[in-house]
Amino acid sequence: MQAVPSEFLAIDRKERANRPYFDLDLRAPEERTCDFNAVVIEFEPERAMVEAARCIHCPDPAPCMVACPTKNDIPSAMWLIEQGRFVEAAGIYHQTSALPEVCGRVCPHEALCQGSCVLNKHHQPVLCGELEAFTVDYERRTQGYAIPKGEPTGKKVAIIGAGPAGLGCADLLIQKGHEVTVFESKPAPGGLLVYGIPNFKLAKDVWEEKWEEFEKAGVKFVPNTYIGKDKTIDGLFAEGFDAVFIGVGSEIDAKMDDTPGTDLDGVHEATDFLIRGNVEPELLPENMRGPVGIGKRVVVIGGGDTASDCLRTAIRLGAEEVTCLYRRTEKEMPGGKKDRKMARDEGAKYRFLTQPVKFIAGADGKLAAVECIEMKLGEPDAKGRRKPVPVEGSNFSVAADTAILALGYWPDPILGKTTPELEVHDWGLITVKDKAKGNTSREGVFSGGDCVTGPDLVVTAMVAGKKAALAIDEYLKNKK
Ligand SMILES: Cc1cc2nc3c(=O)[nH]c(=O)nc-3n(C[C@H](O)[C@H](O)[C@H](O)COP(=O)(O)OP(=O)(O)OC[C@H]3O[C@@H](n4cnc5c(N)ncnc54)[C@H](O)[C@@H]3O)c2cc1C
Repeated sequence: MQAVPSEFLAIDRKERANRPYFDLDLRAPEERTCDFNAVVIEFEPERAMVEAARCIHCPDPAPCMVACPTKNDIPSAMWLIEQGRFVEAAGIYHQTSALPEVCGRVCPHEALCQGSCVLNKHHQPVLCGELEAFTVDYERRTQGYAIPKGEPTGKKVAIIGAGPAGLGCADLLIQKGHEVTVFESKPAPGGLLVYGIPNFKLAKDVWEEKWEEFEKAGVKFVPNTYIGKDKTIDGLFAEGFDAVFIGVGSEIDAKMDDTPGTDLDGVHEATDFLIRGNVEPELLPENMRGPVGIGKRVVVIGGGDTASDCLRTAIRLGAEEVTCLYRRTEKEMPGGKKDRKMARDEGAKYRFLTQPVKFIAGADGKLAAVECIEMKLGEPDAKGRRKPVPVEGSNFSVAADTAILALGYWPDPILGKTTPELEVHDWGLITVKDKAKGNTSREGVFSGGDCVTGPDLVVTAMVAGKKAALAIDEYLKNKK
């Protein structure tokens, strides 16, 4: 329910709809590609107020709210921001989101809140994503934020995985008064926010400050602990946990096993490339601390957000020619348009309807070229996407000394294998009985995020964690 007072709604929508739009300020491509710092220049307070005052306050429920997976009350926040009441606006986001400073930066706004803004019909949408990040940053700088802690219940919940799903769950469980311990296989918390999404989209210090809020709220963090290897879910119950949430993501890179040459020096998997390229060595497991090798001519294979991030990381690491190879057309690309535009502005090229069929070594045994075949779009598949079909005899070669495979991700099947009665499907995705609750086939075990849906978004994983937290709270109240 929007909190905008009714007298305020007697606004002149037409006049507001015609207010001038000032595009987002970005650092110039030639400057930003020299480092890994944030690309978007943060709003100044006056600029934020002007931008928020473009909101025409659609009747409740506003389309932006409907499109937001976490149902942020965006019109109310816009109303507060335009009056300079930034901290109160931040409070609106905290009501529905555990990660507003992250979602304000990395959500594909053009496909969600901003994409559904009615101003799109004749004008530019309100930049509500960036305004979300602005308000929460402002609050942190001026007074800080503390996750409200509930009355202690004496119940203990184990969360497996410190990514957006696990943290969405932790945030609400703490507010309900439960004791939360997060077990994480990596040295630091954050999941793909740290070990995937590059710094130029989400600076590590933004994340570190966010994590401090969880620590201050009493969330216990157990790093370098791989559940399924170092401990089991049964073991966690035996240690005294009353419920378990699985938020382990979907992080195993898809392979091109039937394509010769993927084992050549110069062919990288996306995650390894991004992590070595972006993450400080001290946050990495020891076996990943070496520098990432990069040549002058780089091809990235794939069409998702990961591909855009690899292209942009390669440019920042000094590659001279960076090309994305994708087997369908741009229309079918799953990655966000905003990231693609930034990659293009930074110098990345795209080659559509192109499928690598062989990675070719040069005289030194390292990657020298990628043999490709042209594709055309055939009949739609089960999901309605037209299938790419090779054009017979159209093979050609692209010179490349580095190839990065950004083909998607699979879940690690280990928890299905080591947890009796835990149902999994499709290569290890966790089966949940009711998506609104995240309850699995195993009593007291809940799950959400990419390990349930397959690779998706930060916001959808966080929402799944929050929904599961409510279900866990209910379960713990009723548990004998
Ligand atoms: C390169 C890249 C760029 C992306 N860019 C965007 C973007 O711009 N915007 C967006 O919205 N989304 C983006 N995404 C998707 C987004 O990051 C994911 O959808 C989201 O992080 C999923 O959250 P999660 O908590 O389910 O999983 P994850 O973030 O993967 O977190 C899972 C955590 O569980 C840990 N773990 C795994 N197995 C175990 C185990 N057995 N025991 C203990 N710990 C375990 C992992 O180490 C990890 O820390 C991107 C993804 C990638 C790969």
